[in-house]
Amino acid sequence: MFFNKEIECMSRKEIDSLQLERLKWTVDYCYKNVPFYTKRLDECGITAEKIKSLSDIQYIPPTTKDDLRDNYPFGLFAQPVKNIARIHASSGTTGKPTVVGYTKTDLENWAECVARIVVAAGATPDDIVQICFGYGMFTGALGLHYGLEKLGATVVPNSSGNSEKSLMFMRDFGTTGIVATPSYALYLAELAQELPFPMSDYKITLGLLGSEGCTPEMRNEIEKAWGLFATDNYGMSELMGPGVSGECRERNGLHFCEDFFIPEIVDSETLEVKDKGEVGELLVTTLCKEGIPLLRYRTRDITRLNYDSCKCGRTGVRMDKVIGRSDDMLKIRGVNVFPGQIESVIVADSRVGGNYQLVVRREGYADTLEVKVELVDATLLEKFSELERLQKELFHRIHTVLGIKCKVTICAPKTLTRFEGKAKRILDLRNEDN
Ligand code: ZN
Repeated sequence: MFFNKEIECMSRKEIDSLQLERLKWTVDYCYKNVPFYTKRLDECGITAEKIKSLSDIQYIPPTTKDDLRDNYPFGLFAQPVKNIARIHASSGTTGKPTVVGYTKTDLENWAECVARIVVAAGATPDDIVQICFGYGMFTGALGLHYGLEKLGATVVPNSSGNSEKSLMFMRDFGTTGIVATPSYALYLAELAQELPFPMSDYKITLGLLGSEGCTPEMRNEIEKAWGLFATDNYGMSELMGPGVSGECRERNGLHFCEDFFIPEIVDSETLEVKDKGEVGELLVTTLCKEGIPLLRYRTRDITRLNYDSCKCGRTGVRMDKVIGRSDDMLKIRGVNVFPGQIESVIVADSRVGGNYQLVVRREGYADTLEVKVELVDATLLEKFSELERLQKELFHRIHTVLGIKCKVTICAPKTLTRFEGKAKRILDLRNEDN
């Protein structure tokens, strides 16, 4: 099933030529309508005429979240506010939020992208989909809402909170799909199991999960609890909201809507474009956006692009699930290491808990990495052979994922300091005297 087969299955040659045409339009549009870009493009001498091929995009300086913050609230808008049909904002956990504006055309394009992604995930016009994201300034709920409506599905704007009532609607309406964060989908399942209604009263077969990370184990748990099929989608308010890329039923990467976006992978330190298939930071250029077009926006997300053909027939390039944030990146013996890669190994092993610490040292001229993990069961400390086996297994799995060797230290339960967020789990002792 496709929402827009002609576009979703274009040949690479057709995609390239469409992207080139739209890139030139966007550069010209930014230059003429956003003073920030006029100045920046003048500084590097880029004009739409100078762009002869897609690879010329690398000469355009990237745009950052700070650029958005520095121009708060409407400084990067390419249209006067009277032409803006809707405004959204990011949560802004630090400092000012980032504010984005959509013209009527932008809203239509957004709904188109989301419609394609939900169809790729298996949604049909017959579905009744309950949106359990919070509405408000956040783009997640309204983005999925309009995309599902465009498809012709029946949308229930449930929002989050009042979970028992949400479950009642699911039973009474015969809801077939839910939009939720993975953790809320799991919470709803646990609550449903406590209520005096059998799980067979729920008809949910499709889970459109998003807005937070989901490990394969968590996804399995959600699917088992509800009896549904879950897919992941990717987006961010700066670029549009949900609908930038999404998984098809093959679940082997997230297809981009390449007629609306150009994704690139760069080295997050040098900003040089990486070779096809290499891991690095994702940069995205919007191609048709009128409200707030962005050139080479630095997402800070670390991933990889896969241009191989997909069994589903869609030709849009696929990105891997995000493995980390460039802000969290560690460089060990010349290799880029992301705490998320190590975390994926740790959470997959039930013998150790989710809390961990990474210690980086310099010994002689070489960097070393120590991974400290906590046991779940303290009695394992007395079983030397089992402990040794666990340590060896973790060592090998981390070596496979990172490509470098590191020391694995197994600690007693609840002995490591607890931190929120990945960055604080890193103890980098390389610049200290030792
Ligand atoms: Zn596919």
